[in-house]
Amino acid sequence: MHEEIHHPCIQHKLAIIRDVETGHKRFRELATEITQFLCYEALKNIKTKQVEVQTPLAMATCHKIDTDLVVVPILRAGVGMLEGILELVPTARVGFVGLYRDEKTKLPVSYYERFPPHTEGGTCIIIDPMLATGGSTIAAIDLLKASGAAQIVVICIVTCHEGLALVESAHPDVPVYTASIDDHLDENKYIVPGLGDAGDRLFGTSH
Ligand code: URA
Repeated sequence: MHEEIHHPCIQHKLAIIRDVETGHKRFRELATEITQFLCYEALKNIKTKQVEVQTPLAMATCHKIDTDLVVVPILRAGVGMLEGILELVPTARVGFVGLYRDEKTKLPVSYYERFPPHTEGGTCIIIDPMLATGGSTIAAIDLLKASGAAQIVVICIVTCHEGLALVESAHPDVPVYTASIDDHLDENKYIVPGLGDAGDRLFGTSH
């Protein structure tokens, strides 16, 4: 399952974040803003509990989130989406996964993983701005499932058909929320048109 969110507020911000002229400060702000919209959609079906709240006028029947949330950025670029999610769900716990690509096997290898305890009925949100080949996303889902996570969703800013299809065939139970499914991967496995190297653009490390 995947959902490409076409809301004009997201698409407007996507147009600016894609722009090669957008500097790292604005890029970071936009990553935060877009992530919030995507997270809002991704969490639309999480469990809530009914609570009674005394307003200045009367009692009101309200609903509060009743799901333990764990946010897992894939290092490094996923960190650029963390602030946006935590503004929306400040009580979420945070785990991290670091992956590199083995030059011989071309497969992702974990060099760092640290997850909070998973609770029954909890939801894990994997964040990575670019779901490109799908390799890192699949590896992160594998690691999270092995650590006991049951409900997992993936939020990325941009993906492409190729990577999305791989993730969906490896983990059909994990929905992916994105602002755009782009055309293809180039020979360096960059998403085209994409937005370039998200880590470099977020952290100002490009030359
Ligand atoms: N990672 C990026 O930062 N950009 C891409 O286009 C693909 C992977």
